[in-house]
Amino acid sequence: MSFVEPGAPADLARDVRAGLESTFGRTATVVGRAPGRVNLIGEHTDYNAGLCLPLALPHATYAAVAPREDGRVRIASRQELEPWEGSREDLASASGWAAYVAGVLWALREAGHDVPGVDVFVDGTVPLGAGLSSSAALECSVAVAVADLLGIETTPDARRALATACMRAESEVAGAPTGGMDQTVSLLAEAGAALLIDFEDHETRPVPLPLHDAGLALLVTDTRVSHALVDGGYASRRQDCEDAVDRLGVRSLRHADLAAVEALDDERVRRRARHVVTEIERVRATAAALDAGDWQEVGRQFLASHVSMRDDFEISCPELDTVVQTAVEAGAVGARMTGGGFGGSAISLVPVERLEAVVRAVDTAFVAAGYRAPAHLRAQASAAAAVL
Ligand code: ADP
Ligand code: MG
Repeated sequence: MSFVEPGAPADLARDVRAGLESTFGRTATVVGRAPGRVNLIGEHTDYNAGLCLPLALPHATYAAVAPREDGRVRIASRQELEPWEGSREDLASASGWAAYVAGVLWALREAGHDVPGVDVFVDGTVPLGAGLSSSAALECSVAVAVADLLGIETTPDARRALATACMRAESEVAGAPTGGMDQTVSLLAEAGAALLIDFEDHETRPVPLPLHDAGLALLVTDTRVSHALVDGGYASRRQDCEDAVDRLGVRSLRHADLAAVEALDDERVRRRARHVVTEIERVRATAAALDAGDWQEVGRQFLASHVSMRDDFEISCPELDTVVQTAVEAGAVGARMTGGGFGGSAISLVPVERLEAVVRAVDTAFVAAGYRAPAHLRAQASAAAAVL
């Protein structure tokens, strides 16, 4: 069994410093580290003032940063060929991958911080475009590093403000609408726990996730079907949700009741809203099941969530459906697609002694269907972003 490994933080910190040296001839003043995430349950609920339950992965992005006197900004990545260079005034017009980094610097300036010119080099082990939020990991690694340069303390409130800046970077500069789950968990997660996030009041609560004690593994399978959130699928689902809100005359789908949703006459809008309303309930049920140590119930919620995303929200794809079906047949307690959809990853809750069988069954099913080989990783609830 081979898994995508998170790497040792000390080694990755050394590598990212070396990258800044060799690319720009600069010595890093600070290195920020921010984790990718996987969502246990609660998909497309963030922008509907709902609930979600993600955890931070051990896989993370590292940003080495050195300030400059002249106000210029240079950005490079081990994972991308094209560096970016411009002035602080150009940040909002950055495009491509560097927009995620430039966007954070822009948003911190917008928030009133006196961000200096900087050289930034990034590197890491979060798979890109796999639904594991490499984009938020990238933003948050830069945000914690620059916050440290600026002497901003990382209290919970300051972390919430950084999450807001990272969200603005992704929505307004990178051009990918995002509801805030990814940035929130990357900046506020606690090791050993998933993070229950309530998008009505932005309260968060750690929900302990003692997978090891329960003899379970959380398997993440990247289908390597590239999802493109900048494309229309995500935006059109948001639009359908807004339509439902208008038709129902509620503040948000958080406040819609299922009977009213079932009475909507537009068939598509009805299904979209039904997903959101039932998914919020499933997040509650999953958090309660975890509190009670009832993993079978967690598994049932996963499966119900997958069916809702496949049939009502229509954001799954054949590869994701194959992972879920195969994993369950091979002994998983439950499985579901995770993340924004249209590709990306699925998660399976698997008794440790069945892990190898599940991985093998999924790989075999992909070969049989003629799909590209998937990549697997093991998720452990890890700590939030920090400077090293
Ligand atoms: P996800 O967040 O699920 O990985 P997104 O499409 O939201 O997928 O974000 C992926 C994009 O983020 C990449 O295509 C790239 O533009 C950018 N990105 C993420 N991590 C890095 C990195 N380490 N170096 C350069 N760009 C990155
Ligand atoms: Mg993303």
